[in-house]
Amino acid sequence: MLLEPGKEHLPEFFRRHRVELVCSLPYYQADMVDRLRGAGVFQKSLEALRRLNELGYGREGSELVLNLMANPVGAYFPPPQAELEILFRRELGRRYGIRFHQLFTLINMPIGRFEEFLRRSNNYERYLNRLAGSFNPATVPSLMCRHLISVSWEGILYDCDFNQALNLPLGEELPRHIRDFDLKALQHRRIRLAEHCYGCTAGSGSSCAGSLEG
Ligand code: SF4
Repeated sequence: MLLEPGKEHLPEFFRRHRVELVCSLPYYQADMVDRLRGAGVFQKSLEALRRLNELGYGREGSELVLNLMANPVGAYFPPPQAELEILFRRELGRRYGIRFHQLFTLINMPIGRFEEFLRRSNNYERYLNRLAGSFNPATVPSLMCRHLISVSWEGILYDCDFNQALNLPLGEELPRHIRDFDLKALQHRRIRLAEHCYGCTAGSGSSCAGSLEG
C-alpha cells in the first residue's frame, strides 16, 4: 500500500508522527508470499520495508517501532511466535538486510479469501473443527474485543477488525458510530461472536498483537 500512487508520502508522515507500524508479511520467502497474496507482492513488501528501515523504522534502539505480522500459508496453525521471530530476523536480515522489532503470529481466520479457499478445497469444516477443538480458555481474558474497539474509515464501530471485515457492527442498543462514543456503554457491551471467533481462541490464541499466550 505504501507504494501505491498518491500514498508515497505516508512513510514520512508516519515517521513525523511516531506512528507504530505492524506490517503484514506472511513469510520470508517470495514464492510462499506470492502464492498467498499474488505475483510480485513479496518484492513490493521488501521495497516498502526497506523504505521504512531507511527512515529509522525497525532499527535496534529506534523509537520508530516496526513490527511484522506473519500468518501460515495454508490451513494450519503458526509455529510458536518466539521461534518464528528468530527465524524471520535471521533470514530477512541475511537475505535482504531488513530489520524489524517484533514478529507477531496470526492464525488464519476462516473469513474472506481464506474462507473461499477453504470451501473450494473442501476444508472449511475440518479447519473450523480444528480451531474449535483447540479452544484455549486461557486466551479469553486477552481477546482484542475485550480491550479494544475497531473504527472503520467512516466512523462505524465494531468489536474487532474481523467483525468489521464481516460487516458485523455493534448491537443496536450500543453507540454505533465514533461520534456517539460512550466508554461506559462500550466497556460493558455484549460482543458479537460467531464461528470465526474460534480463530482467536485456538492454541496460543491470536490477535493483531500476535499470540495471546507466551
Ligand atoms: S473475532 Fe471474535 S473473539 Fe476475535 S476479537 Fe473479534 S469478536 Fe473477539
